Amino acid sequence: MSASPVQPDPSVIGGVPKAPFALMPKLARLFHDRAIRFEALAQGSHLAPYLKFLARITRIQGDLASALPPLEPVPADRVERARANAMPPIDRLAMGPDCLEVLQQFLEKAEALEKPAAAAEALAQVRTADEEVLTWMIGNVMADHLPVESLAHHLYVSAAMQIQATRLAAGLDGSRLVPIRVGVCPACGGKPVASMVIGFHGAEGARYASCSCCATMWNEVRVKCLACGSTKGIGYRAVETGDEEATVKAEVCDTCNSWMKILYQNKNPSLDVVADDVASLGLDLLMKDTEYKRAGFDPFLMGY
Ligand SMILES: [Zn+2]
Ligand SMILES: [Zn+2]
Repeated sequence: MSASPVQPDPSVIGGVPKAPFALMPKLARLFHDRAIRFEALAQGSHLAPYLKFLARITRIQGDLASALPPLEPVPADRVERARANAMPPIDRLAMGPDCLEVLQQFLEKAEALEKPAAAAEALAQVRTADEEVLTWMIGNVMADHLPVESLAHHLYVSAAMQIQATRLAAGLDGSRLVPIRVGVCPACGGKPVASMVIGFHGAEGARYASCSCCATMWNEVRVKCLACGSTKGIGYRAVETGDEEATVKAEVCDTCNSWMKILYQNKNPSLDVVADDVASLGLDLLMKDTEYKRAGFDPFLMGY
């Protein structure tokens, strides 16, 4: 009888597990879990109608993500070229043409949803928009630039693009991604919604920024401005709740005067970066009265 050899685990350095740099989205679970979280957060919230609407939108995202055939993965040579040049392997600006089909399917499903009147009106307009207008809207979403006068219209386009970008990201090997720049997703170049301190095995207490477009999460140090990269002059604000410590805080930076949410999933495993971003609107309202400007990007929370 021979003892089985002990394989050294390369992710464990000095006995402490090293958090992986990138965590890729799990297509089958992401939107499904997010929809459940939106529904849970809607209970007793004064934002309930909007949170329930977003729960339905997110369900469609999940249904389509499961129903659509798998995408061709980003070619390995492109991933390696991007890696060598510290570029994101997903070219979001080139996604447009492939997105139209997904967008049309998404809009069709969204038609049946129960929704607030303004959202219904916006949907009707997007559904009758011609290809040129839709392509322009996709371009806005991909450039993270949503015109204030048509945020409700762009919400649908953003949601559809999230499906497409997440499908692409889900097919990437996270171990082949490299840091690009502060506040830039290593998979698609998108902006983070917020960051999250996670609690799952192997990376407890590690912090990850979460992409607003493709849902890739990338590792960042615990105290650092994700807008300018400063690790000095960082502070934290929260809405006073009176009971235990807040699970969503604003990380503020005195170097660039911006702020971004940090979520403590290690304290509450059901937190979802997008759902809890929307549901913690009270923190945004609190921060509106300060000199700090919101740096987190979330197409579901624009215009508030
Ligand atoms: Zn991304
Ligand atoms: Zn900063």
